[in-house]
Amino acid sequence: MKTYLFHGQAGAGKDTQVEMILKKYDVERIATGEMMRKMKEEGDPYAVEVFKKVAQGIWPNPEETFTLFAQWIKRFDPKKDWILVSVARYVDQIPFLDKVLTDVGRKLDKVIHFTLTEGKALERLAGRKICSNCQGTFHPTFKPEKIEGICDLCGGKLEVREDDKPESIKKRFEQYAVSIKPYVEEFNKRGILIEIDASPSIEEIHKEVLKHLEFSNERQN
Ligand SMILES: [Zn+2]
Repeated sequence: MKTYLFHGQAGAGKDTQVEMILKKYDVERIATGEMMRKMKEEGDPYAVEVFKKVAQGIWPNPEETFTLFAQWIKRFDPKKDWILVSVARYVDQIPFLDKVLTDVGRKLDKVIHFTLTEGKALERLAGRKICSNCQGTFHPTFKPEKIEGICDLCGGKLEVREDDKPESIKKRFEQYAVSIKPYVEEFNKRGILIEIDASPSIEEIHKEVLKHLEFSNERQN
């Protein structure tokens, strides 16, 4: 079974790419956005402990995160290919991820890194508007709302998040460029890094992604 890691900065469209793959292939998408909250709700004692610290403003260290992750992955089918989505974001997390995978008899087969220029990131993210009521997203160029400032879906008021203002995007872009360098170097050394330019159309990127990956099971419907 293959194990792939997808990563890329905001605006690179990696989630859209994963969704397109899921439509064609029967693979497990494994992300950690909900991991801690969900495990805490389920009463996992370790998650409850870590969550207490988070409530005090202490972010989990890699050891804590990947101790949780080792439990988290048990809910996914080991007989399927896995796509891990931004599960490791920094170079110091990679050894922890390696260990969790080794323990379940897997290894990273490929790491897909979606790259964007600063100009493209700005174009995609700047001006993005989010509905204050239903969280629907709109964009003046790519997905404009029908009535300016009003959500097409629910009639709620659209707002530009602080994060999506040009100054914040530039700052995040610079921070990302610094943190990602040793990360991609590590996977490059292993010969498993695939860098994909995320500026063409969604379909073109999808084709490019599929050139590099193999999946065991096509979806039957
Ligand atoms: Zn809305």
